[in-house]
Amino acid sequence: MVLSNIIPLSKPDIEDSDIDCAVNIIKSGFLVQGKAVKSLESDVSQYLNIQNCSAVSSGTASLHLALLALGIGHGDEVIIPAFSFVATANVVELTGATPVFVDIHPESFNIDETLIEGAISNKTKAIMPVHEFGLCANMPAIMEIARRNSLAVIEDAACALGAKFKSKYAGSFGHFGSFSLHPRKAVTSGEGGLLVSSSPELDYKIKVLRNHGIEPDSNTMNFIDAGFNYRMTDFQAALVSGQFSRIEKIIEYRTSLATFYLDKIHNRSITLPHVPPNVRHAWQSFHILLESEDIRNRLMEYLKSLGIMTNYGAQCIPHLSYYKNKYNHHAEVEFPNAFRSYTSGLAIPIYNKMTMDDVLRVADAINKFN
Ligand SMILES: *Cc1c(COP(=O)(O)O)cnc(C)c1O
Repeated sequence: MVLSNIIPLSKPDIEDSDIDCAVNIIKSGFLVQGKAVKSLESDVSQYLNIQNCSAVSSGTASLHLALLALGIGHGDEVIIPAFSFVATANVVELTGATPVFVDIHPESFNIDETLIEGAISNKTKAIMPVHEFGLCANMPAIMEIARRNSLAVIEDAACALGAKFKSKYAGSFGHFGSFSLHPRKAVTSGEGGLLVSSSPELDYKIKVLRNHGIEPDSNTMNFIDAGFNYRMTDFQAALVSGQFSRIEKIIEYRTSLATFYLDKIHNRSITLPHVPPNVRHAWQSFHILLESEDIRNRLMEYLKSLGIMTNYGAQCIPHLSYYKNKYNHHAEVEFPNAFRSYTSGLAIPIYNKMTMDDVLRVADAINKFN
């Protein structure tokens, strides 16, 4: 297989002009959190139409800080979907709180909101829905459940920058919305995260905690809390700012790639992703379902032999060793939809440098698979 013929699962969309922005900052010698971070935060706030944004060192750091700012810790419970990237649960564990898993809708891969109230106890402090693969969860319903039960909501919108539910952006419904800038996401700073909130008080806590507990914008170094170093560097912010200015185009192009897949893949053993009405999918991943784990693994090997890279979409977290052993979960019976999505699901290539010919090549290969 000639290397140039390989279709990767994902690839960042970084232009020379984005690199120039980062290089200019590096040449200036001012590398840590500064003006470029501030300017990225203000661009993101404006775009999402939400008052406050804090840039941090990763999507995981962002979720961790959101939980801490809400005072969540030992003895508390946080409701999360059973199907997500493992970081969604790890951050809850790291605060000392307990993740309480809820199964997902099999067709959207998002938390099944009708199961949330059954998982609420007198220890529940927050719900952390995930907008899986860039598709916004049913936020109006989740916010209503949270309101009825006096719970906080942190949206894990790691994959969903620019996604919408009706006309409202994913990440702008909850007390916090958290985004990742990892290279697998639509825009990237290498490692990085963004945390948005409509509450100035909550955002203030984030700005303190991300920077060693130092009072923000103070000239004297006033240490008012025990904080982290979860800062983003200025050259990372500059690298992402240029990409972010193209976010609408980036999503439009990903949508056209996904639409082409939906049109071209015809294979009865494959369930294609379902797009509900009234949403804008950000298509971080294109996730298909096979009839069994065995067939999924065979398809993966077959595509690899043709130079087409794929991977599992996300994990059934209560089935992973640490969570399974600690909480004695039997994921296959407790969370059947999450279990099936983990064992029989596959993310196929989608990225902005992908051409329509690439999509056709992947679709043709999948159509010939039996
Ligand atoms: C990528 C991702 C994260 C973690 O983001 P990092 O920036 O890699 O720390 C968390 N949750 C979900 C759903 C993700 O997809």
